[in-house]
Amino acid sequence: METYRHILLAADFSPHGDCVAERAVDLARRYQSELSVLHVVDNLPIADSVYGPVIPFSEDFTSELIDAGKQRLAAFADKFSIPAERRWLEIGSPKLEIIRIAEANNVDLIVVGSHGRHGFELLLGSTANSILHHAKCDVLAVRLKDD
Ligand code: AMP
Repeated sequence: METYRHILLAADFSPHGDCVAERAVDLARRYQSELSVLHVVDNLPIADSVYGPVIPFSEDFTSELIDAGKQRLAAFADKFSIPAERRWLEIGSPKLEIIRIAEANNVDLIVVGSHGRHGFELLLGSTANSILHHAKCDVLAVRLKDD
């Protein structure tokens, strides 16, 4: 039987994120695979501004966000015993970075929540949807409900 060798957990630190992490940890244990965690600091470019594409953050603000992201990632990864060399922080668009990092590191399963910080209005969140469409490996979207 095929097994997963490298699982990537995409963490946005939303309230349901622990459920998603628990699933990824459980799968990694069952398949005896490596487990990495990725958080992407979203740089939120405004693509349709009248001034053209705009990245609204100053350098100082971006480095504050990165520091805050690193701290959250460290606490989150500690909680799920993910070792330091398997904790990744990137800056950019979450949907693009998750795919890029998965491909660059031979990930064979990406684990995301069906929804994240952007609410439950849609059947599937936009990051989850994009990853399901574009990933070259398997994707598990852990079903999260708003209750
Ligand atoms: P969304 O589709 O944006 O509601 O988020 C769905 C899932 O995508 C979340 O539960 C996370 O697993 C993942 N995700 C969203 N944003 C990020 C982010 N900035 N960094 C890492 N993973 C993310």
